[in-house]
Amino acid sequence: APNPTAPRPYDGLDKLYIAGTWRDGGSGEQAQDVNPYNQDVLATHVLADRADVDDAYAAAERAQRAWAAAAPAERAGVLRRAVDLFDARHDELVAWCQRESGSIRAKAEFEVGAARNITEEAASFPYRMHGDIFASDTPHKENRVYRQPLGVVGVISPWNFPMNLSNRSVATALGCGNAVVLKPASDTPVTGGLLLAKIFEEAGLPAGLLSVLIGRGGEIGDYFVEHPVPKLITFTGSTAVGRGIGAKTAGGKHIKRVALELGGNCPLVVLDDADMARAVDIAIIGRFLHQGQICMSTNRIIVDASLVDEFTERFVDRAANLVCGDPLDPKTDIGPIINDAQLTGLLSKIERAQQQGAETLLGAEPDGLVLPPTVFGSVDPTWDIALQESFGPLAPIITAHGEDEALKFANMSEYGLSSAVVGGDVERATAFALKIDAGMTHVNDMTVADEQHVPFGGEKNSGLGRFNGRWILEEMTRTHWTSVQHAPHPYP
Ligand code: NAD
Repeated sequence: APNPTAPRPYDGLDKLYIAGTWRDGGSGEQAQDVNPYNQDVLATHVLADRADVDDAYAAAERAQRAWAAAAPAERAGVLRRAVDLFDARHDELVAWCQRESGSIRAKAEFEVGAARNITEEAASFPYRMHGDIFASDTPHKENRVYRQPLGVVGVISPWNFPMNLSNRSVATALGCGNAVVLKPASDTPVTGGLLLAKIFEEAGLPAGLLSVLIGRGGEIGDYFVEHPVPKLITFTGSTAVGRGIGAKTAGGKHIKRVALELGGNCPLVVLDDADMARAVDIAIIGRFLHQGQICMSTNRIIVDASLVDEFTERFVDRAANLVCGDPLDPKTDIGPIINDAQLTGLLSKIERAQQQGAETLLGAEPDGLVLPPTVFGSVDPTWDIALQESFGPLAPIITAHGEDEALKFANMSEYGLSSAVVGGDVERATAFALKIDAGMTHVNDMTVADEQHVPFGGEKNSGLGRFNGRWILEEMTRTHWTSVQHAPHPYP
């Protein structure tokens, strides 16, 4: 039954939010936002052009000065009211995530919860931007290190966890006294951007501090990144696009900071003393949550030879029983792939795995965009299905003979985002975890995890920098060394 105390749902989500006004973009080109399960049109937007990018950045630059000078209580107050709105509008936000990105309820709840919690974390930032005082070798001199906002931050986010992956930059940038211009993915403009704009506007964020631009990468992408106004670009998305963004920011005409959260190829290692039931549970959820379209998804399952037969049998059995279909149906485990292009890519990855010799233990044809789980046995760790991120419900099982080989296989990837180890002896599993070349490793838990007060990020080609907690506070601010000489200096 509808909650009688719930606020009236947000409307006007068919406009962009530019420089404090809700309006169409200047390109004149329309784009439809569709539900990937049934192709219902959720909203139609007129896309932004380069003049809109200029407007958004100019407004951000103007508004940021007053925001940075405002009392910490004022900035914290806006963020706290935004937290309250995440709570009051929880069901509305969850329903949007389910419709726009094909998320089952559990994933949508996880996403909205994470977006809420990072806002709560960011509400403490106005009081945590403290500096340091250091001694000097020069008599009567004092070294002070101040922490200051960067100015304007440009944010680019993907479609898979859009509300959280946008807001972990938006809320934290605002908390540090910055202004933000956000470009969400075109598959998820509402949950990745416009709903956040509605929340912060209702929470009392002054106009201009947040703009949301929806536009074609080809039209505004480079312009957005190379623009002289933003001092930091945070990018979450694929390694291929991220590499180009790094070249246009740290290596661009206007040198600026960049934070890159990129692709993953996360291994789950099942050691010889693992609890079998637990290992299978962890593998099933870690692989198939959100159809495997998560950067932290378990992309490779590496199982000790002594357990691999039983593990494989149980895993295939569980995967075969997952319910595929409408994400709004509470029984559904596996919803749709985000779009046709992604599905086509997955089907060619299946074909390639089979060509390279993988044994298909489970698999079925897609129904619309819903692709049932595919499980591959006897996978060689050098095959594409093991080395490349699949970003879909494809599960390769690799056999390792002992711990050393398992570690070698786990580290045999250009990526180093998340990882997991399952083992009965926790200290042994933890020692193994520390040898994995990754930013995150979970012992006896799945590769998919995100808590808003601990550092999130990857090594190797998975990116640069860390999100969440004090780590994102450091990314979103700059230090300013200021020295003070308190007495006339005896210069030689
Ligand atoms: P993508 O790189 O194709 O797109 C990401 C965003 O960049 C989108 O908003 C897109 O519109 C934009 N974009 C594309 N080209 C651009 C350009 N030239 N200039 C400016 N913006 C441009 O990635 P995707 O398909 O949306 O997301 C899937 C990928 O993201 C996977 O590789 C996944 O592992 C990764 N990812 C990483 C994390 C993480 O935290 N490390 C989280 C989620 C997803």
